[in-house]
Amino acid sequence: MSASLIITNASLLTMDPARPRAAAIAVDGNRIVKLGSHAEVMAEKGASTRVVDAGGGSVIPGFVEGHMHLFAGAGELSHLQLYGTRGFAELKARVEAYIRQHPGDDLIIGEQADYVIIGEHEPLSRHHLDAVVKDRPILVFSPDHHTAWANTIALERAGLLKGRKLGPGNEIVMGADGLAQGELREGEAINPVRALSREGGRDRLGLVTGGEPEPYPGKAEFESDLRIMAAGLAHAAAHGITFIQNMDGNLYTLELLEELEKRGQLTARVRVPFHFKNFMDLAVLEKAAAMAARYRSPMLSSGFVKLFMDGVVDSGTAVMVDDYADRPGWRGEPLFEAERFARIAVAADRLGLQIAVHAIGDGAVRTVLDGYEAARKANGQRDSRHRVEHVEVIHPDDIPRFADLGVIASMQPPHPPGCHGLPLEPYLSKIGEARWPYAFAWKALREAGARLVFGTDWPVSDIDPMWSLQSAMTRGRWTDAMPDNRQSLHQALQSYTADGAYAGFMEGQTGVLKEGMLADLCVLPVDLENTDPATFKSIRPRMTVCDGRVVFEG
Ligand SMILES: [Zn+2]
Repeated sequence: MSASLIITNASLLTMDPARPRAAAIAVDGNRIVKLGSHAEVMAEKGASTRVVDAGGGSVIPGFVEGHMHLFAGAGELSHLQLYGTRGFAELKARVEAYIRQHPGDDLIIGEQADYVIIGEHEPLSRHHLDAVVKDRPILVFSPDHHTAWANTIALERAGLLKGRKLGPGNEIVMGADGLAQGELREGEAINPVRALSREGGRDRLGLVTGGEPEPYPGKAEFESDLRIMAAGLAHAAAHGITFIQNMDGNLYTLELLEELEKRGQLTARVRVPFHFKNFMDLAVLEKAAAMAARYRSPMLSSGFVKLFMDGVVDSGTAVMVDDYADRPGWRGEPLFEAERFARIAVAADRLGLQIAVHAIGDGAVRTVLDGYEAARKANGQRDSRHRVEHVEVIHPDDIPRFADLGVIASMQPPHPPGCHGLPLEPYLSKIGEARWPYAFAWKALREAGARLVFGTDWPVSDIDPMWSLQSAMTRGRWTDAMPDNRQSLHQALQSYTADGAYAGFMEGQTGVLKEGMLADLCVLPVDLENTDPATFKSIRPRMTVCDGRVVFEG
């Protein structure tokens, strides 16, 4: 028997401690069949074997993206992109250029507007947006997507201009004139404006409501959604990603991916959760269990429940143990009461489901850990691999609890202020200097034995794992008194490959280059160990292989 694909003249970083390096790798079908020297691996060559010369570049396990939003990110690829925009004049120019290319009267949706897009001391308002475009609705999202800003016509049409009563944690910011100022915090405030779009919004249902599209999309809409999803998958494949852990979902998302798999277009393994919203009843967990039972293949699986415990720091919706530094008396409002969350955790854990909870403030992180502890007490210790998503601020007392409870810390190297070109403010003032050492505390968590998995939260941040590795390895300190959180190449890769596979219950199958394992890998044009990490952002994969198939070639 001979190999289907051989990659040689490579610097393999296998992430397998038993054999960390090799010079060549052979794949047959969807499996890795040989690792070793050039001569050893070339012995597997047959008449139809494709041989690729890696030119001395690194070959690594395919990236496991630990936290992202595939369908929503794919939907955004066609939106107005405002990353890096500074000041009113540049905002106006970019919107006008977009309008020239996208005439009509549909809602304009902008992405990646910084909280300080106008200036450090001047929050974006509907008046700024009116001065950019008055007669067409526009909605502009912050990078974290937890805040958005709308112009007057958008607020009027959505019925928000005079304010509206919303659930806890959601807010329409009101101006001194008694009308909405333009800033909308969290889903219940933002969604009525988002709904003005003719796009349909099916790409965001898994995020916004966790529900299914109603009525069920017709053939044309379904095909259109397949095209959007395929574009998102192609974007991931071009960045070397072979395993996506999606952090929003519904059955519809899985059905689209299932159809793409049938058509041979599923270019990455995807794991999709059931999204449990705070207005849902415990009984919905039956649907989560049904999704888990129906989708359990190595390419497409469900099996976990996603929840949001809080919002984000910049808008003051993250939940803190103590008061925000810039707002005495305010600690944020949790989206689930502690007792209720514990009941959900116990019930989901009992059904054998993994749980992943967005928790950014140290108060939210604590409540989630308490819930996981309650689940362990009620159901006994099992291989649950529950996760906390983001863990942006942690109380020092809670750092050892990750290892104690076997909980995974899912963190995003692009997110610390100062990384990925993010501004330091308002973040640092909001948490206050006393909390800085406990913000994005990669080093302290690792040293305390926690397992870290990395991702980008795309489309919150750029999907590029190379840029993410760069931020993980070069992150600066906000003061000299802070711990140095920079990660080694090996640590960062471990969190992006082997530990990511573990978090997705796929260790022993992927995340490591080893004979007998599934062939998921990424060929890079440079030897990472001899390349300055400050330049990683510019490195594009030459080839991505998932399940033995070449899914991208540059
Ligand atoms: Zn997310």
